[in-house]
Amino acid sequence: MKRRLVCLTILAAASCAVPRYTERDAPAFSISLWVERNPDLDAQEILQACREWSVKGVVCSLAQSPEVADVRIMAQDSRCTPGKDGNITLAYAYHEGRIELFIPCLRDGNKVDKELLHAVTVHEIGHVAGIWEHVTPGCGPKSPLHPSGQHVCGRAVMNPLADRDLGYVTKTDALAFDLRERGTSLLRQLRRDALGLGANPPPPDCTLLRK
Ligand SMILES: [Zn+2]
Repeated sequence: MKRRLVCLTILAAASCAVPRYTERDAPAFSISLWVERNPDLDAQEILQACREWSVKGVVCSLAQSPEVADVRIMAQDSRCTPGKDGNITLAYAYHEGRIELFIPCLRDGNKVDKELLHAVTVHEIGHVAGIWEHVTPGCGPKSPLHPSGQHVCGRAVMNPLADRDLGYVTKTDALAFDLRERGTSLLRQLRRDALGLGANPPPPDCTLLRK
């Protein structure tokens, strides 16, 4: 199944700082990225954005070729035009392991807005990790329930509207990661022995307590 997900610009950014997720889970997953050669894309910066998910045990690396990569990062240079609702699509993530970044929409003047590119990339990596549903900024009784009893809602890099000041994993994102769709996640279970972490299997990253 091919499914496209979008993230959109926030039209009136008025944000206050949201704390990062400060715990650090043991390395348990790997994901490799291939970054298309493009003057506006720096592979090391894309890698740094992926590494925001290291707090959830994700080990990121750069692949030598698109054929062997789990995810291919592509630059789209088409014109940047707002949709009917006034929002601007910044990127797409595809189930088959492709992320398209709309470079003209990420520019501030002649240069790409590095903070916005970082935030958008962290968001799209979250999608391909299996968080295909956006996290709603507002909370209600229908908000997804984490096994810990906490509702998965609030300010997060996985909100549908991009926030250039929120390019990191928040506590809400960490909960959403636990609830990700494992069947369509492009994360691989990490071969711990390859990283010298010992052969013991990693602990489960989410303990279910359903009644
Ligand atoms: Zn999105």
